[in-house]
Amino acid sequence: MELKVSVKAPAKINLTLDVLRKRDDGYHEVEMIMTTVDLADRIDLIHLEEDRIVVDVSEGYVPNDERNLAYQAAKILKERYSINKGVSIYITKNIPVAAGLAGGSSDAAATLRGLNELWKLNLSLDELARVGTEIGSDVAFCVYGGTALATGRGEIIKKISSPPPCWVVLAKPPIGVSTAEVYGKLKVNQITHPNTQAMLKAIEEKDFTKICAQLHNVLEEVTFNTYPEVKHIKAQMERFGADGVLMSGSGPTVFGLIQKESRLNRIYNGLRGFCSNVYAVRLISQHHS
Ligand code: ATP
Repeated sequence: MELKVSVKAPAKINLTLDVLRKRDDGYHEVEMIMTTVDLADRIDLIHLEEDRIVVDVSEGYVPNDERNLAYQAAKILKERYSINKGVSIYITKNIPVAAGLAGGSSDAAATLRGLNELWKLNLSLDELARVGTEIGSDVAFCVYGGTALATGRGEIIKKISSPPPCWVVLAKPPIGVSTAEVYGKLKVNQITHPNTQAMLKAIEEKDFTKICAQLHNVLEEVTFNTYPEVKHIKAQMERFGADGVLMSGSGPTVFGLIQKESRLNRIYNGLRGFCSNVYAVRLISQHHS
C-alpha cells in the first residue's frame, strides 16, 4: 500500500478575464482564459491509520484548520467515498497568498489528485473537477491545469491548446486583495470587454504578438483604483520592455510575458529594485493526466 504521495500545485494566470453579468445566485457569470505557470506549491500527503485530517503549512499566516482549501478537499473526498483512514497534508507554500494566482484553489486541486492516488479511488479528472467545484470556482480549472477557457462562475472548463512557450515575470506588491471586495466594486454595466474569441484564435495560431495584444482583465481598473501601486507595477513592467502585461485574477500580482531570454534579466532585476516578490517562471503547456 502507498503511504505517501507528493503532488505539485501550480499557480495560474489569467490571459483574459471578462464578467458578463451578475447572476441571481450572487455569483458573476465570467469568461476567462487561464493558463498554469511553473511556480508551484508542494503538497505531501501521508497516510494516517487514525481517522483524521491534519494540515500543516510552511507559511504561518495560512490557516491549518478546516478553513484551508486542501483540508476541505480531503474532507469532501473522505466523506463521499467513506474512507475511514486519515491523512496528514503538508503544504510547502511557494505561491504568494491572496495574490490572484489561485494558490489555495490549486492546493485543493492537487490534494484531490493526490488523494485519488493515495486512496486508489480511480476517479477521472472530470469527477475530481466536479468535487472541486464544491470547494471554489477556480478549483475545477486547477484540477486539469494547462490552458483552458472557463465559463459559468469559472467552473465550466474547456481545455484549449497551449500558447507558444515564453517567460513570465510575476510581481506582487506587498498587499493582499480580497476577490469578493473587487467583484463587489465592479460596475458590470460599465465594462469594456476583452475580445475572448480573438484571444482564443491567437492562442490557436500560437501568435505571441497577437496574444500580447489581446491581454485584458476587467478587474484591473477596480484594483488599480483601490491600490495605485498595482497600476504603477504594470507601468514599470511595460517600461522595462515586457511584450505583454496584465494583472492576474483580482490582483494584486501583475505578470509580464516575455519571449526573448535576453530581455528577461533586465525586466526581472528592474522590478526587484522596488518590489520584493518577483518571480521569473515559464508557462506549463501540458494538462494534468
Ligand atoms: P484566486 O486567484 O482564486 O482568487 P488568490 O490567489 O487571490 O486566489 P489564495 O492564495 O487562494 O488567493 O488565498 C485566499 C485566501 O484563502 C487566503 O486569505 C487564505 O486565508 C485562504 N486559504 C485557504 N486555504 C489556503 C491555501 N491552501 N493556501 C493559501 N491560502 C489559503
